[in-house]
Amino acid sequence: MCIFCKIINKEIPAQTIYEDADTLAIADVNSQAPLHWLVIPKVHVENLTQAAPEQILACTRTIQHLTREKGVAEYRAVVNTGAAAGQTVPHLHFHILAGRALGWPPG
Ligand code: AMP
Ligand code: ZN
Repeated sequence: MCIFCKIINKEIPAQTIYEDADTLAIADVNSQAPLHWLVIPKVHVENLTQAAPEQILACTRTIQHLTREKGVAEYRAVVNTGAAAGQTVPHLHFHILAGRALGWPPG
């Protein structure tokens, strides 16, 4: 079972920011910005390419809900897909980064 599935199953602790039936949002353990959340679909899927549209919609809905609720107007949402793009956990997740100036292009 992958590490995010273990977090979803409460086998590994994480700082939960938000949870609903379809998604979990946690604080990234290796934060790259003052605000760094991970929004994760609860049903395991490896990446954005393989995800069902409903899973993507559930994640983006959670991102909208959370950023509105927390008053985060400016942020970056990132999905790394594949090792060459920096994906290290093989379970789809949206990075939400905010709280500092974010350079472009990203490294
Ligand atoms: P990626 O490299 O895009 O696959 O992102 C994986 C992210 O998961 C990294 O930013 C890690 O810091 C984060 N991460 C790994 N393990 C944990 C954990 N147990 N709790 C919270 N975040 C984690
Ligand atoms: Zn998983």
